Amino acid sequence: KAPAALLAPADLYGASRRNSAGFDLSDEQTLARIHAARDGDMADVVPLTVTRPTGDIRDVTNPATGDRLAAVTMADAGTAARAIDDARIWDAPAAERAAVLRRAADLYEEHFGPIFGILAREAGKTLADAVAELREAVDFLRYYAAEGETDPGAPRGIVGAISPWNFPLAIFTGQIAAALMAGNAVIAKPAEATPIIASMGVRLMHQAGVPVSALQFLPGRGSVVGAALTADPRVKGVVFTGSTDTARTIARSMATNLAPGTPLIAETGGLNAMIVDSTALPEQAVRDIVNGAFRSAGQRCSALRCLYVQEDIAAHVIPMIQGAMDELVVGDPWDLATDVGPVIDAGAQGDIAAYVAANAGRVIHRLDMPAHGTFVPPALLRVTGIADLEREIFGPVLHVATFRGSDLDQVVADINARGFGLTFGLHTRIDSRVQEISDAIQAGNIYVNRNQIGAVVGSQPFGGEGLSGTGPKAGGPRYVPRFFAPDAPAAAG
Ligand code: GLU
Repeated sequence: KAPAALLAPADLYGASRRNSAGFDLSDEQTLARIHAARDGDMADVVPLTVTRPTGDIRDVTNPATGDRLAAVTMADAGTAARAIDDARIWDAPAAERAAVLRRAADLYEEHFGPIFGILAREAGKTLADAVAELREAVDFLRYYAAEGETDPGAPRGIVGAISPWNFPLAIFTGQIAAALMAGNAVIAKPAEATPIIASMGVRLMHQAGVPVSALQFLPGRGSVVGAALTADPRVKGVVFTGSTDTARTIARSMATNLAPGTPLIAETGGLNAMIVDSTALPEQAVRDIVNGAFRSAGQRCSALRCLYVQEDIAAHVIPMIQGAMDELVVGDPWDLATDVGPVIDAGAQGDIAAYVAANAGRVIHRLDMPAHGTFVPPALLRVTGIADLEREIFGPVLHVATFRGSDLDQVVADINARGFGLTFGLHTRIDSRVQEISDAIQAGNIYVNRNQIGAVVGSQPFGGEGLSGTGPKAGGPRYVPRFFAPDAPAAAG
């Protein structure tokens, strides 16, 4: 079936697909509304289901301060089973579903103050990252509304949506919006670390008009809720973003328990590389390197992990990276000067610190660390190549290798040999090289002479290949159709 964008080119750049304008953090009134959400109690989080939920209670804490924010009721297996019993596909016409999702997008934007407040307090997001996250969430709602509206297929049925803490509003909302626009009933499990912002998103979608039976919210443990959603044969599709290991667990459970052919749409990890050759513009490359490796405290699956610098310029470029790292402000997410906030929790902090300690002999640069909270100092490690990276470290740790110009093909082969394929960056001023390397590199998103994070919905569909995911790409024209039943005759209108 042809993707919607091919069927309806007239609306490709129309108003209904316009990206969110975002928020101006230099505007005093905007800042005042954000700061009003800085302190104060947050509502406790409960599963939002048709039938009364049950489960045990757990605390959600602020990673930067350790403060308790709210209590969350962790849905138990019985609640998950009842949610599946109660789920109903959303049979309103596609145009009505699109209107509701657009209303939800407007509500998200209207509630920017509390949303930024929760993103900063629950997920440790810097305000700049919070702005980007809300924009992306809103973009997903409007983009999928436009896609599904022009391409009405038949729903698959119940879709389980399992999302990560690193984009706890954007990816959470995107999965749900796409599945709903295809008319499915969604049961959404947020990441264990970030149920508060997810709950706010669901409340706004319900307020906009999504029926509760079409969108139920199940905060809880992966081993309980995730397991239920991937093992009940009534579930007809699963969309997941998170680690490659968890994706494997999900795939195994689905293969054993769900109907053959049930789709798993997975977006997973990466060992993302960038090549900087001797023709690159060093000032521009360094800015993009530091941004790609350290923004969001390196907690993006798209983040730069392994940098290759051509040896002719390494003695110039590597000290420039170190100098740019020294300018990074690590600290309070509320401070507009902050570049790097805390990592998500003490477990992540310990894991990253242990990795850096185990590789102490490779560390060539490292910043100091705030004494309190789950901060991790940005670090630069010297390696001979991507083969030296044991695994994906989900934090502000960058590895750098040098290469001889004559070994460029080997570098590309080494990157491909790791089997991941999410993002790749290239800094060069040789046009023919852009084409050659783009053709040879196996990666879903290739960025030339810019940073490699922050894919924009609608213009830069995002997703990987190999160990990095199944596709189709989020924010692209093939995503919503994947949530349609395969052989459905296209409905009229
Ligand atoms: N879409 C995000 C980006 O382009 C990354 C998503 C993720 O980290 O899961 O930076």
